[in-house]
Amino acid sequence: MPADRIDAQVAVIGAGQAGLSVAYYLRRLGLEPGVDQIILDRGPSTGGAWQFRWESLRLGVAHRVADLPGMQEVGVSFDTADRSLPARQVVEEYYRRYEEHYDMRVVRPASVFRVENEGEALVVRYTAGESEHSLVARTIVNATGTWGSPFVPWYPGLDRFKGRMLHTAQYRSADALRGLDVVVVGGGTSAIGFVMELEEVAASVTWVSRRPVEWLHEQENLDTETAIAAVAAQEEAAREGRALPSIVSGTGVPLTRRMQAAIDRGALIRHPMFTSVEEHGVRFADGRFQRADVIIWATGFRPELRHLAPLRLREKAGGVTVTRSTSLKDPRVFFAGYGPTASTIGANRAGRTIAREVIAQLSRK
Ligand code: FAD
Repeated sequence: MPADRIDAQVAVIGAGQAGLSVAYYLRRLGLEPGVDQIILDRGPSTGGAWQFRWESLRLGVAHRVADLPGMQEVGVSFDTADRSLPARQVVEEYYRRYEEHYDMRVVRPASVFRVENEGEALVVRYTAGESEHSLVARTIVNATGTWGSPFVPWYPGLDRFKGRMLHTAQYRSADALRGLDVVVVGGGTSAIGFVMELEEVAASVTWVSRRPVEWLHEQENLDTETAIAAVAAQEEAAREGRALPSIVSGTGVPLTRRMQAAIDRGALIRHPMFTSVEEHGVRFADGRFQRADVIIWATGFRPELRHLAPLRLREKAGGVTVTRSTSLKDPRVFFAGYGPTASTIGANRAGRTIAREVIAQLSRK
């Protein structure tokens, strides 16, 4: 690839917490957005995946949402945000102000469908509206999150189910499920939130999960040992190129007062996972049948990496090998918000590390 075809030093794919954090630190190290670094995002608006989350979700219900680096200078903070507003609205607005303040010049909607290796450079192919475009960069930062890759586990009979199936990514409001028999699958905060908001609305709500929920009684627990252990498990998997373990199964769920009250009144009773799905419901190991018009799969997400397939980074073990947020197979490719950095605080940490690594990589040319 001739040097005059290089459009940017870095292409950042995704403008959620991870992409914006990288962009912020790159900018501090002298890479100007829109010139040296070009940020592409598929979403129609600011806010990363938060712009698509359901209406009733509020900030800080169970987990803290960390501010983006340099957010103080913008004059906003998630810690003092209005909790009566939908999280998606707050995040959309704060990210918008952030992007404007730091002149991030995010190209959107720009959906990357392929990244190709062309000698010294990487060619990022994307669609914007009806047309296809390409961007040639020396390095790429993949910050595409997981929202676009919902995960639904397979159970016998799943293909015969005649009702509706929804994943967390498609859930909009409890009201849409008024008067229906609903089965909620999952052991994390999202599943628990759905069960609680469906209590008054649905005809019946049955909550199942593969493992019992580990309730954390003090916020402190999540912030220290358990969180460290969960992140370490993610880090190890990424280092070894394995598929990433679920964060929830590693951290447990902080027990809020609302959850405790729901447990006390018998509205939050977890059942072991069903063993098969039938046309109109689910069947448990003991033979019991539960009718279901709707099954909600709050069963997590996988990293969204399809567009990187031409780079052949995926290992036989199912993941990509990533150390210090850098691909082992191709050191021009960086992963932000991946594995151990898939939280708002982790994304911030990745931003700082990746920006330095990108500069080091560029100076090797
Ligand atoms: P995202 O916010 O998903 O951003 C990725 C961006 O990449 C999106 O804007 C997307 O449009 C874009 N993109 C994806 N693919 C492409 C493509 N091919 N081409 C172009 N653009 C693309 N974390 C916390 O720390 N605290 C919480 O309270 C919390 N609550 C959560 C609640 C839910 C329901 C879920 C699912 C997750 C939650 N998380 C929380 C995790 C949270 O999502 C992350 O912490 C963080 O917001 C993820 O940021 P990200 O930038 O990695 O991903």
